[in-house]
Amino acid sequence: MDYQKILENIYATLKGHKSTGKVATYIPELAKIPFSKLGMHIYCINSGHYHIGDANERFSIQSISKVFGLTLAMGILGDDLFKRIDVEPSGNPFNSLIQLEYENGIPRNPFINAGALLIADVLISNLKNPKKELLEFIRNITNDYTIISNSQVSNSEKEHSHRNASLLHLMKSFGNIKNPIEDVLDLYLFQCAIEMSCKELATAFMVYANEGKLINTNQQLLNPSYIKRINAIMQTCGFYDEAGEFSFRVGLPGKSGVGGGIVAIHPGVYTTAVWSPPLNPKGNSELGMIALEELTSRTGLSIF
Ligand code: GLN
Repeated sequence: MDYQKILENIYATLKGHKSTGKVATYIPELAKIPFSKLGMHIYCINSGHYHIGDANERFSIQSISKVFGLTLAMGILGDDLFKRIDVEPSGNPFNSLIQLEYENGIPRNPFINAGALLIADVLISNLKNPKKELLEFIRNITNDYTIISNSQVSNSEKEHSHRNASLLHLMKSFGNIKNPIEDVLDLYLFQCAIEMSCKELATAFMVYANEGKLINTNQQLLNPSYIKRINAIMQTCGFYDEAGEFSFRVGLPGKSGVGGGIVAIHPGVYTTAVWSPPLNPKGNSELGMIALEELTSRTGLSIF
């Protein structure tokens, strides 16, 4: 398969597409990123790396970081984690408060904001230096020790975090948050503000496509049964109230973020990441969704 040619064709299709998406202005720093940025990377287990456009430029990974937080929390608590959080698709926007009230402070899944905030609470309770350990984990699976969190982005979001603080207060009122609200919010905003390129994301997610093994060294870093579950949650909950649509159009487990990034994996075959800042009304990259739909249609390589 000529992946480079396929990427070039997808790129041409996207460039010809008139986007109606909008960037996430509630994080003012993100609103400064040019609309026109567009990059895509494919990392095939058998044949290596292919990229196009701005695939090597770092951007704010935002909610894609929720996969990394979940991975660490599962490693710490195992099945006990799922006493405090569910694994059902929410069918609601990522920052919705409604469901949390009538479900007694138990977040629907780890990939909506309530769930990721709860995971941050778990990491604070169990790790000496959660920011450092989270970053080290990401650096390790990416094999890149220069990855950092951008404090300008996290500070800019902090001033507009009333909704995330509300989610935390509501969960705390049900006894499901154990640490001070400010500490949990601080870790959550730190992880959202981590910056990675499409190439780095595709590399990091290879551990999820490779049964928990690091591809370079073959080291079994993560429990394969956790990998199975994390991939299942990506499939069913990775795109909030658009998870069904993503599954239907793309047919891969994946995760998006309001920085305009989307990562998707085909276990045992490849990982891919795409970046285009304008978001559709559900908060997922508009062109990113099209790019991945084109990829699985042109290659025939989806999990279904
Ligand atoms: N930091 C963002 C928020 O909490 C992340 C949301 C997202 O990427 N969907 O709203």
